[in-house]
Amino acid sequence: MPDRAPQPVERQLPTEEARDLVALVRDIVQREIAPRAAEQEDAGYFPREIFTLLSESGLLGLPYDSGFGGGDQPYEVYLQVLEELASARLTVGLGVSVHSLACHALAGYGTKEQQAEHLPAMLGGGLLGAYCLSEPSSGSDAASLRTKAVRDGADWVISGTKAWITHGGIADFYTVLARTGGEGARGITAFLVPGDAEGLSAAVPEKKMGMKGSPTAQLHFDGVRVPDARRIGEEGQGFAIALSALDSGRLGIAACAIGVAQAALDEALAYATGREQFGRPIADFQGLRFMLADMATQIEAGRALYLAAARLRDAGRPFSRQAAMAKLFCTDAAMKVTTDAVQVLGGYGYTADFPVERFMREAKVLQIVEGTNQIQRMVIARHLAGPETR
Ligand SMILES: Cc1cc2nc3c(=O)[nH]c(=O)nc-3n(C[C@H](O)[C@H](O)[C@H](O)COP(=O)(O)OP(=O)(O)OC[C@H]3O[C@@H](n4cnc5c(N)ncnc54)[C@H](O)[C@@H]3O)c2cc1C
Repeated sequence: MPDRAPQPVERQLPTEEARDLVALVRDIVQREIAPRAAEQEDAGYFPREIFTLLSESGLLGLPYDSGFGGGDQPYEVYLQVLEELASARLTVGLGVSVHSLACHALAGYGTKEQQAEHLPAMLGGGLLGAYCLSEPSSGSDAASLRTKAVRDGADWVISGTKAWITHGGIADFYTVLARTGGEGARGITAFLVPGDAEGLSAAVPEKKMGMKGSPTAQLHFDGVRVPDARRIGEEGQGFAIALSALDSGRLGIAACAIGVAQAALDEALAYATGREQFGRPIADFQGLRFMLADMATQIEAGRALYLAAARLRDAGRPFSRQAAMAKLFCTDAAMKVTTDAVQVLGGYGYTADFPVERFMREAKVLQIVEGTNQIQRMVIARHLAGPETR
């Protein structure tokens, strides 16, 4: 039989610098992330030291302006880095994506003064960010959020509860969407809240099906006071800022999904070529060969879709519809591919002795976060057919 040890994905990268970056990421993955991923996920351990290492290596601010400590990389390069990280451990890949999402508001809508004051530490200074949109009573209908920010002299006082916050309780800064005006999308404003703000506390993290190393927690804002200098963008602009961040963030989720799917295919291939039944490797049986072929095809199609959307973004063209399509397709593909990988391994696939059951549990969350896949279909349909009539 030919050697079926997993081969690194052959990537189309635009520059020598990008190729060096991916090589650096692969080195960090092999030395620091992959060897401990299963054990640490099982123990629910969040690898903060990995995020510090990624920050020191210039990998936490890749798509942002180097003038503020970013990496000046096109989105197509940043996303492939995310894919590499997620294929080793979703907690890390998704964590970098969420951190990037949390930087988006300030980098895109902050004043030059705000950016100069905060961005260098956020993009390359070892800080970790979180993005606070969801609430206990508002998920898909995010514009109905209730957390309030009330003006008090030169400050804003924020009160309410955010839910499902990735890095909740451990982040150094939170990008928070709060209601400063009337009902609906136009009454929402964005704020940058420091992690140690008085009155800010986190609940015990949720007990999740997967990504157990990534803390997801409710955050309570009990009269948290921030100066107006921490308001991002105009009053009432917050929801537009939040949606713009999500367009980009969804591409991050798509890339993470393909990373998880690729890792599952690599495991399935290695197993199928080594395991024998009926006197032959199970990879000989057409029933499995077709399954493996479909898995690989889904992965390559997903990668092509998220890269096409990223290249539109890099060219300054609209990419919202394509980002929703990439998030939808790549995360559904990851769910299918990881489920099939468990099937390829048979009974062993259902045990924690192999990582495919973890990949399957991890894939599920990607169909839910940053807009469920039902919401992605709504977004795509609105681009096609216009808004619903009622
Ligand atoms: C592990 C994890 C991490 C997360 N991290 C963050 C984070 O960092 N920051 C943050 O702000 N949020 C975060 N979230 C929240 C996530 O974005 C929400 O869970 C998601 O948007 C769905 O909201 P919901 O859970 O309230 O579900 P609901 O909105 O109550 O939806 C329940 C079901 O109804 C469906 N549904 C709702 N409306 C419609 C409709 N109009 N048409 C068809 N179907 C519909 C949904 O698709 C879903 O299947 C995280 C969630 C998880 C699980």
